[in-house]
Amino acid sequence: MKHRTRVDMTMSSRQTLRHAYLKSLNASGALKRARNKIGASSATLVLTLHRIIPDDAIASCRSPRGMVLRESAFHSLLSYLNEHATCVKPEDIDRQEGSSPRPRVLITFDDGWLDNFAIAAPILAEFGMSACFFAVTGYVGHSQPFWPERALGLVRTLYDSKSPISVQDVFAHLVDAEGTPLSPAPLREEDLLSWLKQFAPETICTAIQDAEKHLANSMAISQPDPWERLMTWDQMHDLTRAGHSIGSHTATHALLTQLTSDEVSSELTTSSAELQHRMMSEHVEDRWIAYPNGFTDNRVRELTAKCGYQYGFTTMSGLWHKESEPLAIPRVNVWDGSVLSPEGKFDESYLEYALFFRPLLAGSL
Ligand SMILES: [Zn+2]
Repeated sequence: MKHRTRVDMTMSSRQTLRHAYLKSLNASGALKRARNKIGASSATLVLTLHRIIPDDAIASCRSPRGMVLRESAFHSLLSYLNEHATCVKPEDIDRQEGSSPRPRVLITFDDGWLDNFAIAAPILAEFGMSACFFAVTGYVGHSQPFWPERALGLVRTLYDSKSPISVQDVFAHLVDAEGTPLSPAPLREEDLLSWLKQFAPETICTAIQDAEKHLANSMAISQPDPWERLMTWDQMHDLTRAGHSIGSHTATHALLTQLTSDEVSSELTTSSAELQHRMMSEHVEDRWIAYPNGFTDNRVRELTAKCGYQYGFTTMSGLWHKESEPLAIPRVNVWDGSVLSPEGKFDESYLEYALFFRPLLAGSL
């Protein structure tokens, strides 16, 4: 992260190439053909969103960029879907209504962030759309619930203050299974996060906490934005009253493939029992789960079925058919980069590529 300028220059030439590629796909009609092809099929396109942040607060949002969609872009996205797609209600995931030339789209949100309630829900209401919100039941109402925001807050502070302390120094005492520490080479934020994910959350949090304490005297560590907290049960009740659904995102956002079978079962049953107990509503999808980070495999899916879940949502790109595995439903992640050009303008070519063209390549119709 010390060499961000060099990385940015590479990115910008990549962005220029990508821009030219998308515009040529658009000019050839390929993007619209992809949309029509999905529309003519019975497939459902499931979207994953995480955080919806006001445009003027994007800079202070500490979440990984792949999780953040600015408010204006979310509005433009829904306006586009309103015009060109059919947004299905979560409870209608299985219901097939005649043939329509419009793609069937289901909107989902992971983690249960406060901004989903405060910023996204009013915009969903404006378009009369319903979504499923996957909640981490053990952290409902918590502020700063996850370590990636704290880790990125720390490394961005180090970078911005031109500190002589590097991110490698902060995590120097963590070594992977082969005894190798974090690579000394320049790192992208997503590479740092995926390297850290091999350690237990407590280990990562301790390392971050120690570094925050150590640095507190010499620099101001970036603070969480006002929405860096999870919705309360009351706020989730309000969402269900407005026609939305709440599903499970486990009890503690544990990465299920890294747990023992007993631990997986405990995460799954604790979370669904909590949803049933707290929500008491017909709109609770207590048999729906979004696997944290999309981490799932055959063993996890078998346990998920055993624990009574019916639908499992992954982070693999693609389209879902009623006939295909309901515990491995592909989804398309939507963030600023999916719908905005490099200049930050909402661009339909980007949206149609991310939502229709790529998922169509990833899964057969
Ligand atoms: Zn999550």
